[in-house]
Amino acid sequence: MEKNIVCAEFKNLLGKDRVLSDKEELLCYSYDAAIKESMPDFVVFPLNAIEISAIVKICKKHNIPITGRGAGSGFSGGSVPIKGGTVVSFAKMNNVLELDEENMFVTVEPGIINGDLKNYLDEKGYFYPPDPASFEFCTIGGNVAECAGGPKAVKYGVTKNYVYKLEVITGDGEIINTGSKAIKDVAGYNLTQLLVGSEGTLGLFSKITLKFLSKPAYSNLLIVSFDDVNNGFTAALTLLKLNNRPSMLEFMDNSSINAVKNYFKSSLLDIKGDFLFIIEADGTLEEVNSSINLYKDILNKFSPILLFAAGNDAERSEIMNARKAISPSLRTFGDLKINNDIAVPINKIIEILTAIKNISDKYKVPIINFGHFGDGNIHVNIMLNKSDSEMVDRGEEAKYEVIKKTIELGGTISGEHGIGIIKKEFMKLKFDDYYINLMRNIKKSFDPDNILNPGKIFD
Ligand SMILES: Cc1cc2nc3c(=O)[nH]c(=O)nc-3n(C[C@H](O)[C@H](O)[C@H](O)COP(=O)(O)OP(=O)(O)OC[C@H]3O[C@@H](n4cnc5c(N)ncnc54)[C@H](O)[C@@H]3O)c2cc1C
Repeated sequence: MEKNIVCAEFKNLLGKDRVLSDKEELLCYSYDAAIKESMPDFVVFPLNAIEISAIVKICKKHNIPITGRGAGSGFSGGSVPIKGGTVVSFAKMNNVLELDEENMFVTVEPGIINGDLKNYLDEKGYFYPPDPASFEFCTIGGNVAECAGGPKAVKYGVTKNYVYKLEVITGDGEIINTGSKAIKDVAGYNLTQLLVGSEGTLGLFSKITLKFLSKPAYSNLLIVSFDDVNNGFTAALTLLKLNNRPSMLEFMDNSSINAVKNYFKSSLLDIKGDFLFIIEADGTLEEVNSSINLYKDILNKFSPILLFAAGNDAERSEIMNARKAISPSLRTFGDLKINNDIAVPINKIIEILTAIKNISDKYKVPIINFGHFGDGNIHVNIMLNKSDSEMVDRGEEAKYEVIKKTIELGGTISGEHGIGIIKKEFMKLKFDDYYINLMRNIKKSFDPDNILNPGKIFD
């Protein structure tokens, strides 16, 4: 590749202010939250689909890889340009393009921050539920590419449940429009849903049309803990069968409870028990009060150690702050974290947690678990000391066993963070060659020259 020629073509297309090629500037686009580093050759900032199409055509002509980038908050190395080439940043495409209140759809550019979209809709009495913990900085484009989820998925589903239409630029530089605002649409293959979760390997999104809901007027939180794991799980499974199921059902195991206890001092959260759930009910005030009473009645039948409903906003935010404190509190266990976001059928959660406990004992590495009980999505954190190479090796073996057991139980290697480069090695444990080839052939149809985010998922 003749870098000067390509750079001149980009500058000719976008102007010099929207093309970066200096090493110091490129560095900021060389990693994501998985902290895998690789430098791009260029970073470009398009404003619309036509510019993206022209960028892709330049890259195709010179056979240069293209990696889309939202906020770079991904946990799987998805936005890291591991083969160099061009990073397409969507930072300057962050507008709301259309609010369709009659049909309850909003069309946005991909670089809009999830939290900004939430606030925009909230001010109008509406609600966009997908709520990754990174919502204050991650982009909707990144959310669609990873199919991001969050605590509210238990009631409201994940990103894929809200994406109805996409404007996409393929690896040929063609602009395609998928889906429609019709609630029922079975015309042809569902390319919209194929593109959701495709991690920037099939196309670059330039417009995204999302469904939104009316905002629940009120919500409240319950904390409940149990000494007996079986009791706790049966109680939680009972709540999930209700018509008015919780809008959040988060869990923490014994080690994450202790980590938070030491890190986040609060008399309110003098948490006892081996297993803890944070449960939310939402709706009108009457609905919330009646749900909370119903949940309490059910939970009380399973001998909880602690059962407590928040009485005001301060208590609600204290409970949520304790939940948010889990990640930083893990540092007390080690300075290197191997983070897995496995998911299993919910009736297999006890089995996988028991297996993880045995794996932790076998390899002598602390493993701390918490996550989204209602989705069977567990954040399994293997905590290690960077300087102890034997421990790091044991941690890698422990990770392999956790993933193998997850698959044996009918689960999956990523519930929300995607495969990227971090979990690529496990694709062969989950899928046979025939299945992987089917995916490769789909990729070839969208991107015949393999220039879109090469080296990811199965490449
Ligand atoms: C503190 C923290 C908490 C987190 N919590 C959660 C959580 O609760 N739930 C969860 O699901 N994730 C979570 N994440 C992971 C991450 O925030 C999500 O994966 C998020 O969706 C990534 O968005 P982004 O804008 O940062 O995308 P990036 O990291 O920039 O990119 C992610 C992928 O999307 C592709 N991409 C980006 N924009 C486009 C586009 N316009 N077209 C095509 N492809 C594109 C990239 O190429 C890459 O493959 C968390 C991360 C952090 C750091």
